[in-house]
Amino acid sequence: MQEIKHNIEKLELELSSLLQNLGRERSDVTLIAVTKTHPCEAIEAVFQCGITEYGENKVQEAMRKVPMLSSGSTGFHFIGHLQSNKINQLLSLKPKLIHSIDSLYLAEKLNRALGNRNITLDILVQVNVTEEDSKSGVTFDNAEETIWKIASFANLRVRGLMTIGKLHPNPEISRPYFKQLKELFDKIKAQQVEGLDLSWLSMGMSHDWKIAVAEGSNMIRIGSAIFGERYYGEDR
Ligand SMILES: *Cc1c(COP(=O)(O)O)cnc(C)c1O
Repeated sequence: MQEIKHNIEKLELELSSLLQNLGRERSDVTLIAVTKTHPCEAIEAVFQCGITEYGENKVQEAMRKVPMLSSGSTGFHFIGHLQSNKINQLLSLKPKLIHSIDSLYLAEKLNRALGNRNITLDILVQVNVTEEDSKSGVTFDNAEETIWKIASFANLRVRGLMTIGKLHPNPEISRPYFKQLKELFDKIKAQQVEGLDLSWLSMGMSHDWKIAVAEGSNMIRIGSAIFGERYYGEDR
């Protein structure tokens, strides 16, 4: 737990100094602790260090952990691929934001489930900017049109875009993709389409968040730089 505290202090120092160089405020960027594979005690330690928003990428795992967590949290984010048959389970956990709406089909199913419950939910549209088959997300070319369609769904509020950079040892590789998504974000934001209220550009993970923030990200999703390496257990 001492290690978590140390890692967060280091991360906060680096983030503040980068933002200062960019002429931006620390409050400009939301840091989400990605807690997948980590036990509740480790997540509580993160809350105690002042990071109170956290993200999980599997509904099954979230169902086990989210209800066990203390009131130290200010928000549960869902960041993984969502199967439509898990929508109701996920909604029972009251996510603050779903980052990973990766198809119109999923958006329709989610909108219907929310309509049945008479609630609206903030979502981000995941864009597969790097066009890797291993990743979900709408294609860059289809993104704008898909976002407009989702904007017309009464129970979904499109709050921004999300992407995953390339999992390459050199994070510079992802800079052009981050730049591309920031341009699209600014373009759509300027259109002022009804049903769209773009605030969040979720990009940047442990290995590439500095590049992502420099390119305009205002929401970063950090796992291993906080918790150390992940070990995937057998039940995954
Ligand atoms: C696991 C995960 C992260 C965090 O990854 P790290 O490299 O450990 O920081 C961020 N975003 C998504 C969608 C993830 O699945």
